[in-house]
Amino acid sequence: MEQTGKCPSCGGTMLFNPGFKSLVCQSCGRKDIIPELVSKIAVNELDFLSAQNTASHDWGMEVKMVTCKQCGARMIQNKLQMSGMCPFCGSTTVEAADPSQDIMAPTGVIPFAITENRALYIFKDWIKDRFLAPELLSENAHLNKFYGIYIPLFTFDVLTENRYTGNYKDDNRTLFKCGKFQYQVDDFPVVASRQLASDKLLLNVIKDYRTNEAKPYTADALAGFPCEHYSIGLTEAWNSLGDDLKSHLVSQVNKLDKSKYLMGIEMATDYFNLKYKYLIVPVWLNSFFYDNKLYTIVINGQTGKIDGQWPKSFGTFAKKTALFFLGSFGLD
Ligand SMILES: [Zn+2]
Ligand SMILES: [Zn+2]
Repeated sequence: MEQTGKCPSCGGTMLFNPGFKSLVCQSCGRKDIIPELVSKIAVNELDFLSAQNTASHDWGMEVKMVTCKQCGARMIQNKLQMSGMCPFCGSTTVEAADPSQDIMAPTGVIPFAITENRALYIFKDWIKDRFLAPELLSENAHLNKFYGIYIPLFTFDVLTENRYTGNYKDDNRTLFKCGKFQYQVDDFPVVASRQLASDKLLLNVIKDYRTNEAKPYTADALAGFPCEHYSIGLTEAWNSLGDDLKSHLVSQVNKLDKSKYLMGIEMATDYFNLKYKYLIVPVWLNSFFYDNKLYTIVINGQTGKIDGQWPKSFGTFAKKTALFFLGSFGLD
């Protein structure tokens, strides 16, 4: 499909419509299904070792990279789009980055299933019981606004050959056991957004995608939504997997033979046929400053799972409220 972003009926702007796998004209309401998002075609697994030469750089549209001067996040946008606000920190000092940079294109996309209204509903439900919630909400109208953005996620498939040793108890004796097994790792995810991956709460929300539902990448899914450029590269992502992958493999040992529960497992692993997918996945994001500290709340745009940080200090809040009321009376 040609990427004009214009409605064939009236020339209006077509934007991606969360939940409907379609583009919708903002003027006449025309709705066009996006073929890639309803196809049964699986996202290509690419060979890791030849990634340098085989990765696609075709975004299906002309793109530019912009960088936030405040938090350093890098976003990919349609070249024609104005550089707006940074969804990670709210800063408006977003500038075009070096255009000579090589921008690897995703192989797959998980489209937004959660609408912005639904995200707001989930958020209001989540903060109901939180300290400071109603006060903060009435004080900061923009807290009621979530920004949709795609973030980068690498997934890895790899065949492993494992040799292990361990101990088990039998009639109060400690016995030694060793063995080996093959295991195929499938779609092991690494969030490639340093901004979000550095926070455990947020990471739990954004690791939780059903990656088997990803569709072949199409620029149409980005109509109206920016995309964060990965800040953790492919090789770094694979190298960062060490401990997570190791404990995943170790956890397989006791599934092999349930009669002898092994402890103190030591394992050596060889990896073969490493493949990856570069997916972009949807989040609804709300970032705000409170008492000079940045708080971020994320909602998984596929599953609706939510988590984030929220101010807890009552002392500073009381002070702030006082100032706030002083301020508003002062204007009268
Ligand atoms: Zn139209
Ligand atoms: Zn920023």
